[in-house]
Amino acid sequence: LTNGYSHIESFLKIPTVKFTKLFINGEFLDSVSGKTFETVDPRTEEVITEIAEANKEDVDIAVRAAREAFDFGPWPRMPGAERAKIMVKWAELIEQNVEEIAALDTIDGGKLFSWCKAVDVPEASNILRYYAGAADKIHGDVFKTSRDLHLYSLMEPVGVVGHIIPWNFPTVMFLAKVAPALAAGCTMVIKPAEQTPLSSLFYAHLAKLAGIPDGVLNVVPGFGSTAGAAISSHMDIDAVSFTGSTETGRKIMQAAALSNLKPVSLELGGKSPVLIFDDADVDKAVDLALFGILHNKGEICVAFSRVFVQEGIYDEFEKKVVEKAKAWVVGDPFDPKVQQGPQTSKAQFDKILSYIEHGKTEGATLLTGGKPVGNKGYYIEPTIFANVKEDMLISQEEIFGPVMTLSKFKTIEDAIKKANSSKYGLAAGIVTKNLDIANTVSRSIRAGIIWINCFFAFDIDCPFGGYKMSGFGRDYGLEALHKYLQVKSVATPIYNSPW
Ligand code: ADP
Repeated sequence: LTNGYSHIESFLKIPTVKFTKLFINGEFLDSVSGKTFETVDPRTEEVITEIAEANKEDVDIAVRAAREAFDFGPWPRMPGAERAKIMVKWAELIEQNVEEIAALDTIDGGKLFSWCKAVDVPEASNILRYYAGAADKIHGDVFKTSRDLHLYSLMEPVGVVGHIIPWNFPTVMFLAKVAPALAAGCTMVIKPAEQTPLSSLFYAHLAKLAGIPDGVLNVVPGFGSTAGAAISSHMDIDAVSFTGSTETGRKIMQAAALSNLKPVSLELGGKSPVLIFDDADVDKAVDLALFGILHNKGEICVAFSRVFVQEGIYDEFEKKVVEKAKAWVVGDPFDPKVQQGPQTSKAQFDKILSYIEHGKTEGATLLTGGKPVGNKGYYIEPTIFANVKEDMLISQEEIFGPVMTLSKFKTIEDAIKKANSSKYGLAAGIVTKNLDIANTVSRSIRAGIIWINCFFAFDIDCPFGGYKMSGFGRDYGLEALHKYLQVKSVATPIYNSPW
């Protein structure tokens, strides 16, 4: 383990996939139809394994198990501290299996193994520990009314929850949805993305070992239009929490409205700007901007996909960012020297390349990149466009790939206007040493998180989510716990009162 790239890690390049079936009521099961789907290794374009494919009937069975567990099972009735013990046990089991889970996310999603091992999987267990800590601190209020009433509120679990998650952060998304719902006392059905089901099934196995009672957590891999739609339109699911594209978010909200009016929370797309002011250290700003768009190969909802640089340092910034992008190392995500792995799927790879073609035909200047890397695997060169106008498609739509759009601004007002000229409002960055600029701009941008001289900096207790068409509702923090609780008010007349 001395060089950070041990024989164990090389062995784990091809982990054995142990769990490939639906996880319902504490058991791994085939789907009712017997159908399976392939999950593909984006490094090689080869099939890793077949996964049982959930359809509507399977979702129905999973919801029945979750309903039974909610209405009659121990989980919602347990003292919060007991739920917390089981959640902590699950966190410990995750900690004992970090490398194997990290390797599953790498083969399934092309994510950097080193990052999954150091950040994503440890984050998963930390999320569980955080919400375990909250599980015994859930309480309502007592109201001081002007009437003779003992009036108080109870915080009750919302019931059976449906979670639908995307493929870019299979591990973090799984726990960010499941852990607060568990702490609240809910039972649930979660659908991982069809591109990346492997780690979620491993987590289900560990949840069972930890003692999460049968039926509380059900995992139904399958496609969006079938299994996903069955969740959002289900009459017996009480709330849905979704992370994914804005387009799909709209469908989920519609399905929820047309079925049982279940509340939804939507964490959707982004087209996040970063504003780099004249006083910035250009080298640091270049590193930040590149990390902001190339981290996780740009498949990240908060990516700094729109880079605005003040005119005084623009030329120097452009020259340096192109040099560094050319030197960026794209390749096998198990190799510790590699900075960027393959895009998760063929569909995503094709979509990104088609946006790059759009950029060229719309008249933006391609400064570097624009092509696939090699002839096997879904690798794409870090790509930078300059002379990007705000009304171009590549400036408006979420590309979800390693594609930076670069443009100039003159004044603070100009920068704010450009930053806000998007239907999205998920994140934004400001690079400056000037506190006045940082404070003014951070209050003027309509986005859910502002990063001043940093990118992707947050912690589990900090609520995360979007403004505008980036959605509503928050993951993380106690705000997320409240998505899975509802308030019941209880009134008792005080002796002899007119009530
Ligand atoms: P992408 O198009 O980039 O794959 P999506 O937002 O479609 O992103 O995918 C995120 C999650 O939403 C995945 O789990 C996917 O299966 C699911 N999904 C896709 N379409 C629907 C739908 N109509 N109803 C419910 N879930 C869906």
